[in-house]
Amino acid sequence: MLLGLMPARQQKQPQPNPSSPEKVNPVFCKSICKFIVSIYLRQLMEDSYRHRGLRKRLVQTVKDKGINDEAVLAALMKVPRHFFFDNAFLEHAYQDKAFPIGQGQTISQPYTVAFQTMLLKVKPGSKILEIGTGSGYQACILLELGAKVFTIEYNKVLYEQTRKFLPEIGYRPVFKYGDGSLGWPLHAPYDGIVVTAGAPVVPQTLKEQLTIGGMLVIPIGNTERQRMVKITRLDETEFKTEAFDHFAFVPLLGKEGWRK
Ligand code: SAM
Repeated sequence: MLLGLMPARQQKQPQPNPSSPEKVNPVFCKSICKFIVSIYLRQLMEDSYRHRGLRKRLVQTVKDKGINDEAVLAALMKVPRHFFFDNAFLEHAYQDKAFPIGQGQTISQPYTVAFQTMLLKVKPGSKILEIGTGSGYQACILLELGAKVFTIEYNKVLYEQTRKFLPEIGYRPVFKYGDGSLGWPLHAPYDGIVVTAGAPVVPQTLKEQLTIGGMLVIPIGNTERQRMVKITRLDETEFKTEAFDHFAFVPLLGKEGWRK
């Protein structure tokens, strides 16, 4: 007889089974979910033979454009740039160009990252301040060179995203949310400061946060086009300024940058 046609009294009630508790432990459930997500992420974050081949070609392109610092080229070879791209845009990861990362910002062109890094003359143990964390790619290159990296981002969404993402792929700079045009006096002085956004003038506060011998690399110009400038601190009050090629960066906002 169909169960639904039985008089209510006679219908079989489900019996509790002492060996299968009704409530699933939420802590256990959370761990399982985390485990599944981590396996999924690991698959997405695969650095295959093909990716390494594409990266090798990119490094050669950057070298052909004049980057001759072997340590910088080796760091470029180590960081899987495709990790910073959505799956749909993977073919852009190993082209020598900047690419949008949301919030009107970009991941810098590999040549530009290499050029700024080369000017900084990073050594293992150097203390470097990066202004403009963005995707975190430049910070990873600096970490691969053995630097202790402090990085500041002014856009809250990018700051939150990158602060979460970099440790997931094994990179751990010290993050800050705020106006990097004022530097980060708490950890000063720095052996190097790299500004990855274009400024109207060289912020005095940044120069004052350099060690003697420390270098500030910063693009200076208007909002369309800037000249790469390197400032070396010679002593307490003296600085040497050198100017290099033109680049096109997004604007450095903030008190010592462009007003929003
Ligand atoms: N270094 C980044 C990378 O590797 O992806 C690229 C940075 S993107 C070209 C410039 C970044 O500077 C943007 O994320 C922007 O939000 C940030 N920025 C602009 N003004 C800033 C400020 N005053 N302080 C900190 N970050 C700032």
